[in-house]
Amino acid sequence: MKVDYILVGCGLAGIAFCEQLKNKNKTFVVFDNNSQLSSSVAGGLYNPVVLKRFTPVWQSKEQLEIALPMYRNIEKELNIKLDYKIPVFRRFTSVEEQNNWFAASDKIGLSRWLSTKIKKNDNPSIDAEFGFGEVLETGRIDSPLLIDSYKKYLKEKDVFIPEEFNYKELLLHDNSVIYKNIKAKNIVFAEGFGVKRNPFFNHLPLKEAKGELLIIDAPDLKIEFVLKSSVFLIPLGNDKYIIGATYNWKDKTNNITQEAKEELLNKLKTVLKCNYKVVGQVAGIRPTVIDRRPLVGVHSENKNMFILNGLGTRGVMIAPYIAKQLYGFIENNKPLEREIDIVRFN
Ligand SMILES: Cc1cc2nc3c(=O)[nH]c(=O)nc-3n(C[C@H](O)[C@H](O)[C@H](O)COP(=O)(O)OP(=O)(O)OC[C@H]3O[C@@H](n4cnc5c(N)ncnc54)[C@H](O)[C@@H]3O)c2cc1C
Repeated sequence: MKVDYILVGCGLAGIAFCEQLKNKNKTFVVFDNNSQLSSSVAGGLYNPVVLKRFTPVWQSKEQLEIALPMYRNIEKELNIKLDYKIPVFRRFTSVEEQNNWFAASDKIGLSRWLSTKIKKNDNPSIDAEFGFGEVLETGRIDSPLLIDSYKKYLKEKDVFIPEEFNYKELLLHDNSVIYKNIKAKNIVFAEGFGVKRNPFFNHLPLKEAKGELLIIDAPDLKIEFVLKSSVFLIPLGNDKYIIGATYNWKDKTNNITQEAKEELLNKLKTVLKCNYKVVGQVAGIRPTVIDRRPLVGVHSENKNMFILNGLGTRGVMIAPYIAKQLYGFIENNKPLEREIDIVRFN
């Protein structure tokens, strides 16, 4: 079999690159063995503001301009709903926090995203004496549905290979790579935390962070916004909510833990006043990088081997943005933004 690209990984990064290839009529196959779960469990939130520090997310405007049309296209092609426009309400815990919000909403680069009106809380199930600040242009991509549906879509097109990619079997030539019976012009690795087992790129400084989420059933809560306090509360419909997330820099497994559950429930106690039941728990490893920027670029010796990784905590917004840059770099010789290029670690 001859193709333009072999792609390893069908998470948010891999899918965003598939979309680039599809749009340009390139041929490809995708390997995925379900060894990493970050994209399949992600809350899927997109939010242009760092709510801890009241600063804009790096390149937020540019990222959203590319990401939202991409998810719209996938919705159309796969006939599914992915993008739920939903406001994010940041809960204030003091007058000082309210003042900090007002100061931030005046700053260039932030005024577009932060509403200057304080929202009062009228929901008896929530403890929010000082009200909320509303972040604008936010939403949720149904990431688990996206991953599942996209794999099925690729299977139907006969380009999905549900197998582990075995790096030892890759043969490298000047203008091509050969893997088993597949010959490709280029190979792109998008394995998330799985890159640690990739001998070509595992020297890059990932500082991976395991995350866990709970799903609760809370019939009395009745909120139609994402609530950000010490945890995120994301409505899923039918009285179900995602509660998240934890950060753990030691545990490298995808196993759910009692510690994470307790941590999230303790935080939830400070904001929720109604009854609820925990109905689910999931875990995954975020491919975060030491300098909080993605890992994109070409291998130092093998010029037809590339990486698309380091999506960190914000894969939904970043993946389409960096996939576009990587495609332009490979096919049209467009330079990569210095901040995302792996040469910064040479
Ligand atoms: C609990 C949690 C909550 C999150 N919430 C959000 C959120 O609300 N918003 C947001 O934007 N981001 C969120 N994130 C972050 C987001 O999930 C990540 O940035 C993103 O999923 C990373 O995508 P990826 O494609 O790089 O990696 P992954 O999703 O890990 O995908 C890599 C894929 O490669 C495959 N693979 C790896 N090695 C091999 C191999 N050798 N052979 C075959 N296949 C292989 C894996 O099976 C996997 O499917 C969250 C993450 C977690 C863990």
